[in-house]
Amino acid sequence: MKHFVMGLLLVLAQVAGAQELNLGLKLDAKGKRPEKVMVQGRVDRTVWLGVSFYPYGTKNVLLEGTHQVIQVPAGRFEHGFQVADRLLGGGVEVALWEKKVPAAQCSGPCEWCQRNGYHLENQILYIYGSLAQSAGRAGK
Ligand SMILES: [Zn+2]
Repeated sequence: MKHFVMGLLLVLAQVAGAQELNLGLKLDAKGKRPEKVMVQGRVDRTVWLGVSFYPYGTKNVLLEGTHQVIQVPAGRFEHGFQVADRLLGGGVEVALWEKKVPAAQCSGPCEWCQRNGYHLENQILYIYGSLAQSAGRAGK
């Protein structure tokens, strides 16, 4: 019985320490197109937030994507990213990672390091979203 209680407490602690990642879109003032990608979440230690944008029809994510990495300290976070016209109809990838490894410490060969000077390791959470343009209410 004692063991059972201990196990239960352990599970509760893991849930309390859970990482959280949310992806949202904000429409522009006219309500016509997604203007901003909002990334929110909560982490219990310092992690890396990777955000990648892909134009519609992207075939090579490494070459055609726009990649950004932000260090996120423990606690709640929120970041907004403008959606450029060329990205409408494209996609966005958002992920939390435990480690950012500089190219000098990469045991490669690694395409990411060759191109960006780093790579990310140990993914914690991942979301993919579509930047579809709203058809609006105008209709016929
Ligand atoms: Zn690498």
